[in-house]
Amino acid sequence: MAQRPGFPLKLDKATPAPRTLKATANVKPSLSTAATSAASFGSPAPSPVQSLGMDSSAVRQRMVQKLAAQGLQDPMVLQAMGAVERHRFVESALVAQAYEDTSLPIGLGQTISKPNVVARMIELLRNGAAGKLGRVLEIGTGCGYQAAVLSHIATEVYSMERLKGLHEKARANLRHFRLANVHLLFGDGMLGYAKGAPYAAIISAAGGESVPQAWLDQLAVGGRLVAPTVTAGGQQALMVIDKTPQGFQQSVLEAVHFVPLKSGVS
Ligand code: SAH
Repeated sequence: MAQRPGFPLKLDKATPAPRTLKATANVKPSLSTAATSAASFGSPAPSPVQSLGMDSSAVRQRMVQKLAAQGLQDPMVLQAMGAVERHRFVESALVAQAYEDTSLPIGLGQTISKPNVVARMIELLRNGAAGKLGRVLEIGTGCGYQAAVLSHIATEVYSMERLKGLHEKARANLRHFRLANVHLLFGDGMLGYAKGAPYAAIISAAGGESVPQAWLDQLAVGGRLVAPTVTAGGQQALMVIDKTPQGFQQSVLEAVHFVPLKSGVS
């Protein structure tokens, strides 16, 4: 039975930030400010990265250099990857691995994708656009990391999660960043989120047997969808679909390993 997604939750509502969504929607979000204030976060206890003696900004820059060496080129994506503090999205026991090119568990059997895959998918999603994308729909909020990265490259991010526990975890993780342009939704992302449509781009962090019709319907003409999908050979690969005035154009790219796209909520 199809379920409608919950109402959008505006992250800044829970904070005393005196900004309205309208006023900040087109303004660069405050991640870089959050990054520079990392030293005072969690006061009086030091952040896990501090207690491990890591300078998170320097470690992130090294991660970005590796991404560039691996062939990632889009400056806006590299800037976003360098700005978002990935260590804030993983359990404290895993903080030391936060900037390694590895996927990590985030609870409830799910994983945060490795930085290379996040950057690659967002680079594909942007497709060399000159400026920021408009509204972007993300399926599979997980811990909220990718939503935070997306908030740098899109004017609005709608991110859906089907597991209540992770939806709430993402809300808690993201609160610190005060990203007024990220809207977390609890619901079955296979149905998309019609209220935010049409989307300039749709990105899935979970792999399905096929691309749900709702995503194709909710994609704007001129928009692009990037989703891990099972291909004819039974393997998961990155699927890129462009919605053009003449119809859909599909490309199947490299093999990937994402958690499964599931229907319903839990
Ligand atoms: N982008 C996330 C990655 C999360 S892993 C991050 O940065 O952490 C993929 C997520 O997709 C899982 O949390 C899983 O629960 C979710 N998922 C799977 N099927 C879904 C669906 N139909 N709707 C919404 N979320 C779904």
